[in-house]
Amino acid sequence: MNVFLVALPSGFVLIDCGMETAPAFEALRAAMAERQIEWRDIRQIVLTHMHPDHMGMAARLLKLTGAELAMHQAEADHLRLVTSGNRRIPWLQEAYIQSGVPLSLETKMEEHFSTIRESFHPLDPGRLFAGGEKLETALGPLEVVWTSGHSPGHICLYSRERKLLFSGDQILENITPNIAWHPGRDMLAEFLDSLAALALLDIDLILPSHGEPFSGHRAWISETVGHHQERCDEILNLLVESSRTAHQMVGEMWRRELSPINHHFAIFEVLAHLEHLKRQGKVRHRSENGALEWHV
Ligand SMILES: [Zn+2]
Ligand SMILES: [Zn+2]
Repeated sequence: MNVFLVALPSGFVLIDCGMETAPAFEALRAAMAERQIEWRDIRQIVLTHMHPDHMGMAARLLKLTGAELAMHQAEADHLRLVTSGNRRIPWLQEAYIQSGVPLSLETKMEEHFSTIRESFHPLDPGRLFAGGEKLETALGPLEVVWTSGHSPGHICLYSRERKLLFSGDQILENITPNIAWHPGRDMLAEFLDSLAALALLDIDLILPSHGEPFSGHRAWISETVGHHQERCDEILNLLVESSRTAHQMVGEMWRRELSPINHHFAIFEVLAHLEHLKRQGKVRHRSENGALEWHV
């Protein structure tokens, strides 16, 4: 997990916060001490999105720094939804039932998520982005680019002058970012649209949240678009054979035992693709004892 400190005309902006763990905190503390930067020098904290590896330490760092918190409005809304009640996405249970996930697996997934959910803290952003805003930094202006798909209010930060993109989890060199289904939204279409917008930008260097900086975003984007097209084709081919639940499709598409957490991500990834295909009129579903049987 990478976090970035960018100099402001006065002080610094911290892009993302890292996991809420002792080693993550120590890594950040040591890196700042090495550069002789004090906590109070961080005047702003920008979150690319509210996943635990990006926002986990935010509450602690906000207290230490007194910085202003900034994030996209949609992400703040999503965080509020997740931090209210039992820190569970409200539609989670329904999505598992509709996907045909067996109760024993659901229990295992719940166990694994309970620790992760502890790092969801309610936060009070002082600045909310809609996309298009500019942050004045020592690197020149950083433009806020709204890139929904991996998360509803995910943002990237772009320096047009220096052709740099802080890409968050939107562009990661060796990984395809997970696309998670949200009710009432075509998250895959939103992800593909935001990739199309990023393909128009001139970028010499991508600074991702995971892995090393790299270049060649247009090749990465066309490969990733191709990957999702293949996934859609794979799903259609399975459904031509016979109708299936999302849970059954995960078993056939990954062909190996997935850890409970990865099984969860795989279910939501399949649901996002099914929603995309449904909106194109290519697949439909019928309800069988609460689970949705998908068919062509
Ligand atoms: Zn993420
Ligand atoms: Zn991440």
